Amino acid sequence: MKRHVFSTAAFSGALIAAATFASPAVAQERFITIGTGGQTGVYYVVGQSICRLVNRLEDADIKCNAPSTGGSVANINGIKSGELDMGVAQSDVQYQAYNGTGNFEGEAYEDLRAVFRVHGEPLTLLARADSGIETLDDLEGKRVNIGNPGSGQRNTMEVVMRAKGWTEDSFSLASQLDAAEMAAALADNNIDAMAYVVGHPNGAIQEATTTVDSHLVPLNDETVQGIVDEFPYYSMSVIPGGLYKGNDEDVETFGVAATFVTTAETDEDIIYQTVKAVFDNFDRFKRLHPAFENLDPEDMVTSGLSAPLHEGAARYYREQGWIE
Ligand code: GLU
Repeated sequence: MKRHVFSTAAFSGALIAAATFASPAVAQERFITIGTGGQTGVYYVVGQSICRLVNRLEDADIKCNAPSTGGSVANINGIKSGELDMGVAQSDVQYQAYNGTGNFEGEAYEDLRAVFRVHGEPLTLLARADSGIETLDDLEGKRVNIGNPGSGQRNTMEVVMRAKGWTEDSFSLASQLDAAEMAAALADNNIDAMAYVVGHPNGAIQEATTTVDSHLVPLNDETVQGIVDEFPYYSMSVIPGGLYKGNDEDVETFGVAATFVTTAETDEDIIYQTVKAVFDNFDRFKRLHPAFENLDPEDMVTSGLSAPLHEGAARYYREQGWIE
């Protein structure tokens, strides 16, 4: 019995005795919790989709739930503390946590395990049309939501701020709203711009662009090029035009990938069953969000991961011939 993953047999002898008496086949239910993000993001859909498939498994008796959380860093910390069994995390956060760099300096989490990579997530900067923000440098002196502590966007924005030599004082306001609160704050004119590392299309950017005139800001200056050159887990990417009201042109920015992670302590069979539920039903999984449209299983298990694969996942991928 490990961490969150417990069986009904753990509850009490009396309960088990009663259940055994009532039915000779006592189901060994195992409960797992997946950390996601805000409800208007894509991580929430990733977690809910995985749970939907896991809960349909006939022989595994796993009960999966995927609550909303603060995002990548909160998910990895939750896995470390035993509060979560698995979670979604940005590839840069996965790298930094496993290797003990960036905001995880000196705290390498060696038991962190990769399960698979999911969709791409560009750093998405959305500004009010009346803010005068057209480039990254225009953020100076403005009211900017840099993300709640625990979110991946906060972690990535801190990388950008360090590269620019900025501190929170570089902005007239550095707000720390949760992902689900940002769009309303932009529409209410409480902030000029919001930063979100997120797959597209998503509910938060949709909500903001339909309630206030706003545009995606390109992030492709020399500082950004320098960040992409320096760190292996960042790459340039494009947010396609036409996904959001008033944003018809492609916008170049940089980004990461969303990844699904766990700890070496999670039971091998649980992870095996989880990846089996996803990949045995992959067409169904892909239909659950447009950001999953171009996912390719073999690619998802062989690129974008920096922590070692969890043994239960590796077993399934070897069976499929996806890895050696
Ligand atoms: N990338 C964000 C984070 O790590 C979450 C994005 C989402 O919820 O889709 O906090």
